Amino acid sequence: MNETPRFDAYRHAIPDTLMPSTSDPFDAAVPPIYQTSLFLFDSYKELEDVFAGRSKKPIYSRGDNPTVRLLERKIAEMEGAEEARAFSSGMGAIAAAVLAFVGPGDRIVTVRHVYSDAFRFFEKVLKRFGVVVDYIDGTDTQAMLAALPGAKLAYLENPTSMVFELQDLTAIAEAARRHGVVTMVDNSWATPLYQKPLASGIDIVIHAASKYLGGQSDTVAGLVTGSKAHIDRINSEIYPYTGAKLAPFEAWLVLRNLETLPFRMRHHHEAGLEVASWLNAHADVTNVMHPAFNDHAGKCTFSGFGGLFSFEVSDRIDVADFVDALRVIRIGVSWGGPESLVVPARAALSISPETNVFARFGVSDRTIRLNVGLHSAMEITADLEQALAAAKR
Ligand SMILES: *Cc1c(COP(=O)(O)O)cnc(C)c1O
Repeated sequence: MNETPRFDAYRHAIPDTLMPSTSDPFDAAVPPIYQTSLFLFDSYKELEDVFAGRSKKPIYSRGDNPTVRLLERKIAEMEGAEEARAFSSGMGAIAAAVLAFVGPGDRIVTVRHVYSDAFRFFEKVLKRFGVVVDYIDGTDTQAMLAALPGAKLAYLENPTSMVFELQDLTAIAEAARRHGVVTMVDNSWATPLYQKPLASGIDIVIHAASKYLGGQSDTVAGLVTGSKAHIDRINSEIYPYTGAKLAPFEAWLVLRNLETLPFRMRHHHEAGLEVASWLNAHADVTNVMHPAFNDHAGKCTFSGFGGLFSFEVSDRIDVADFVDALRVIRIGVSWGGPESLVVPARAALSISPETNVFARFGVSDRTIRLNVGLHSAMEITADLEQALAAAKR
């Protein structure tokens, strides 16, 4: 694994492509929250110059806000991207990014086991506009490459949700470029610290900042990063009109929590691997779906691992009893915060199959997703051990 990267080199001055650099006059250690919807102009001329793009200044916070802009610049820097745009949620980011690049009759190639609400966005929203979506086994690189010609967009998630399947980003990006297909990767799991998809040739990287980037289970936020041309397209075609902008305070929370990201990720990486290895050796665990143990595509691009993964329990374990017997680990969706959490797939399998990605692509009802939070591996394995023993039939 790489040396823990540091981000304190970035000062809180707001260096910008859209605004003049605004250093804090007091050298505040923490960036100010620009809790304002609008910005004032001194004269007709100043307003006209800003409208005409002759000078730079934020106008209205549905467009640009300095606190949000600082977050966008930091994430762009971390991903090695030219530009970034923040959204009020990961889904806001996904919807805007996808809508900027597809139109009626276009085809999207995506992976099976894609994030459940991205799946619903494809099935419920895009299909109404005549967009065709192909779900491919992303571990099968040949199948992915074969699906690309004629598609408009390849929407990837490395690893995928729930079963943590990997894709060969480099091979897919290279073929997509040849066929004129725009590529996007949801990089929420690895964060820019542990995977840099743009370096593998991917065009656009998406984050649910509600997860590791926010890291404290107190914020819902999303980000899209990529080249200036790609982000400009999102900005000019979709972003201001769907209105899913990030609030300055929420941007500030993510900025604050980014300071601890390297330390949190190191813990999730280490404790996650330790718990996954422990589960792997347990007699009542039949499968551990952690990218460290399942390099499907044989092209692992991670320099470290997230602490979210799944495992399957044997039929000697009652899933509901197991979940109810956990004490340190709580029951809850989402992930990436300090809490250690489980989601049993069985509870979600009752949702109607047309819009249920688990049912559609076959997630076993014995699958449990585990978020290794900021607990020690020992606390978590002790809890798992007693709950597995309590749930044994
Ligand atoms: C949670 C999540 C999202 C959606 O993010 P929200 O902020 O909840 O809208 C997208 N992708 C992945 C992989 C996620 O886990």
